[in-house]
Amino acid sequence: MDKPNYSKEMEALLDKLKNEKPRTLLLHSCCAPCSSYVLEYLSPFFNILDFYYNPNISPSEEYEERKDELKRLIAEQPHMNPVDFIEGKYDPESFFEIAKGLEDVPEGGERCFKCYELRLREAAEEAKRQHADYFATTLTISPLKNAEKLNEIGERLSKEYGVEYLPSDFKKKGGYLRSIELSKEHGLYRQDYCGCAFSKRKRREE
Ligand code: SF4
Repeated sequence: MDKPNYSKEMEALLDKLKNEKPRTLLLHSCCAPCSSYVLEYLSPFFNILDFYYNPNISPSEEYEERKDELKRLIAEQPHMNPVDFIEGKYDPESFFEIAKGLEDVPEGGERCFKCYELRLREAAEEAKRQHADYFATTLTISPLKNAEKLNEIGERLSKEYGVEYLPSDFKKKGGYLRSIELSKEHGLYRQDYCGCAFSKRKRREE
């Protein structure tokens, strides 16, 4: 069976939405560099609630720095429809709980899948609370993340919470390169590790 093409699925959906009144999208955002291209690309189609929920990020100073950069980007970047920032709860204990026993698993493995789900689940819940039409995540822009797994989780949670999920593979069609360009344009802080204490330790060892 052919692998699903999430980028094409998203394009087909956006094509349907392009002549309609903008719907509301709750966009889970991990950081400013990843969000730069995604906001530019999606804002013609949606009113966006940009949801920063990332309890995986360690230490708290790093969490704050990434958050402040994201808020600055949202204020600076021109958007075709409104983009509002929402901060989720910073509850690192929920991340350490799901990572228990998986601390030494290499990046891209089981710990990351649980980390994706933790953040997407909260995004689906927030989308429901906010009566958003769709939810999505910027995480699929990273070549280091497993887009197939992210989309599988998003689709499963969509059924569980009764909120439409916007499939994506934002790195495709030059999306990742455009995010680097936009990061330079806005002078955004680009972190050198994924986010959690384990990925930070690994990066330092390397
Ligand atoms: S490496 Fe990144 S995706 Fe994986 S658990 Fe750590 S923060 Fe989450």
